[in-house]
Amino acid sequence: MALLVHKYGGTSMGSTERIRNVAKRVAKWARAGHQMVVVPSAMSGETNRLLGLAAKLAPAGATQDNGRELDMIAATGEQVSVGLLAIALQAEGIAAVSYAGWQVPITTDSAFTKARIKSIDERRVKADLAAGKVVVIAGFQGVDAQGNVTTLGRGGSDTSAVAVAVAVRAAECLIYTDVDGVYTTDPRVVPEARRLKTISFEEMLEMASLGSKVLQIRSVEFAGKYRVPLRVLSSFTPWDIAIEDEAVSGTLITFEEDEKMEQAIVSGIAFNRDEAKISLLGVTDKPGIAHQILGPVAQANIDVDVIIQNVSHQGRTDFSFTVHRNDYARTMELLKTSVVPKTGAADLIGDPKICKVSIVGIGMRSHVGVASKMFAVLSEEGINIQMITTSEIKTSVVIDEKYMELAVRALHKAFDLEQSPP
Ligand code: ADP
Ligand code: ASP
Ligand code: MG
Repeated sequence: MALLVHKYGGTSMGSTERIRNVAKRVAKWARAGHQMVVVPSAMSGETNRLLGLAAKLAPAGATQDNGRELDMIAATGEQVSVGLLAIALQAEGIAAVSYAGWQVPITTDSAFTKARIKSIDERRVKADLAAGKVVVIAGFQGVDAQGNVTTLGRGGSDTSAVAVAVAVRAAECLIYTDVDGVYTTDPRVVPEARRLKTISFEEMLEMASLGSKVLQIRSVEFAGKYRVPLRVLSSFTPWDIAIEDEAVSGTLITFEEDEKMEQAIVSGIAFNRDEAKISLLGVTDKPGIAHQILGPVAQANIDVDVIIQNVSHQGRTDFSFTVHRNDYARTMELLKTSVVPKTGAADLIGDPKICKVSIVGIGMRSHVGVASKMFAVLSEEGINIQMITTSEIKTSVVIDEKYMELAVRALHKAFDLEQSPP
């Protein structure tokens, strides 16, 4: 019998009927003798609804000034979920107790709306488990050193679950969601996508960082750092399926590369439509120019992703980079007021309608020509590539958002990722 952490996402917690199903599933595992910690998300749509209310009163969206209040609002979604799930478990005859992040406590830094977990005090949880209770802990939230409620960024319940698994030394962290595992690409965009039985930690990290929302990237980082076995599986199988079958279903994230296994060159395709592109044209090309442009952006706590600087022509160059779409307006304003005048840029142009499409695979390390095949496929579809970035195990391109699905489908086919025919 093991100590396990189950995480249930928003869709899995989407109605009282679904919460009852989650409770029945957890009760099955508890009755089989496992010690259970459960980390649910807010009911589907709830976090958007809550943030939408805030947006009505603060049309500029999240700013550094209102982050604390946004977290106070958004964290209530998960607080409702833990209470409901504990009640549903009790109705199944299972002793259960619910905790908000601050009650555990899950301590974070003070970066509101994207806080990082610093430590988790496991004593309370361990005592409840020893007393035979199922412990239900709110995902997505924590508390900073000053006692402020914080949240971990969208999709953050995955990270809560893995961090809790590390703290209580769980044997495995099971991420229950609305798909039955990690696929070669988002099955909502490519219905022919194939489920992977296992995926290497490195590939999962790339997929998550490049936009596959199935796991929040920090959850994968935590799992890798502390070697927590992590499995993604469906919460929509009948709750009463045999535990032995459920325990091996879905996709396992693996840490050891299996030498014997034939490595696929490309294992998956990720995409991200949350980015926006910004270009400063005709800036004076001199040492320190990148810092002059990106320094103020970093200071404003805006993350920059892809960066490209062109060759210089007559002492002038163009400089482009991408930011999260939520930060687009703020970045444009910042550049207009404090960077353009200093750098002597001839023009500032922005495009929020771009997307980034990436191919990922550890097999790319030992194969040349993978990136050029990607470019050939996109060119055959008449898709113009605006930016390119590569690393050892991925190649990403920035393209016009309207070609995203076409690009993902064409690449998925060209790299033989489709399901083998029945
Ligand atoms: P939850 O609410 O359970 O956290 P999410 O919506 O955050 O669920 O993540 C699950 C979704 O991730 C799936 O419904 C799917 O559309 C999407 N997704 C994106 N890329 C992939 C992928 N490669 N494999 C599986 N699902 C993916
Ligand atoms: N409820 C939060 C969100 O919608 C956290 C999560 O679902 O993981 O982003
Ligand atoms: Mg999620």
